[in-house]
Amino acid sequence: MIGIAQKGNHIGIYLTASIINSSSDRADLVSLKRAIVSQLESTFRCSAGPYKLSLKADVEVLYRVKDCSPAKVLFQIVDALPGNHPAEADFKGLRIRLNKAIINDIIYNRNVRTVPHELGHLFGWDHPHARASYESVNPESHPLEQQLTEEERKHNLMSQGWYPQRTNIPLEEAMQISEKQIDLLLLHYRSGQLNRNLHLKRHNLFWKKLLP
Ligand SMILES: [Zn+2]
Repeated sequence: MIGIAQKGNHIGIYLTASIINSSSDRADLVSLKRAIVSQLESTFRCSAGPYKLSLKADVEVLYRVKDCSPAKVLFQIVDALPGNHPAEADFKGLRIRLNKAIINDIIYNRNVRTVPHELGHLFGWDHPHARASYESVNPESHPLEQQLTEEERKHNLMSQGWYPQRTNIPLEEAMQISEKQIDLLLLHYRSGQLNRNLHLKRHNLFWKKLLP
C-alpha cells in the first residue's frame, strides 16, 4: 500500500511492502530488504520545488505466495523479464519485478537507482523523455510531466539510464524528483488511481496466484 500524508509542504510517503523470490536462484532476502528500505528512504528524503519529501518503508520478507497481501507493494525476484530488462513495474500498481541478475548489485549498493525509479512508476510517473529520442519530451506522459525542463529531464530519477549518461551525468546524480512529479503523485493518490492490485489473484481462501 502506498499512503501519503501532507502537512503544508511536507509530504510523507508510507509504504507497506513484501519481498518474495520466484526465481530459480537463492537470494539473500534479508539483505535485499535492508538495501531496498535504505535506498528508498534516502532517495525520497529530498526537496522538490516547495515540497519537502520523506518516505518510510515497512518491508517484510515472504517465502510463500499464499502470504502475499493484495494491498501491499510486492518486490518479486524473477528469472527473466521481457527484453532482458533489469526491472519492471506495474504502472500505478503494486508490483515491482526485479531481474535476479541485479539483486547483488542492489544489495551491495552498486545499483541504487533502479528500485526508486520503479517505485516512481507505481506512483504513475512516466519517463519524461520520448522513447529512444534524446533531448525530447515524452508525448505519452502526463501534461504535468511534459512541463519538466531539459535540465530536469537529464537529472531526473525517472529518465532511463541512457538519457543522463549521454550527457555524461553519472547515474547517482540523476536521482532528482521535480515539483511537477509531486503534483502528479498527489493528483493520482487523491483521485484513487494508485494501489491497483494487478498482480495477485485469489482463487479460493487458501490459494493465490501471481500473474506473470
Ligand atoms: Zn522506467
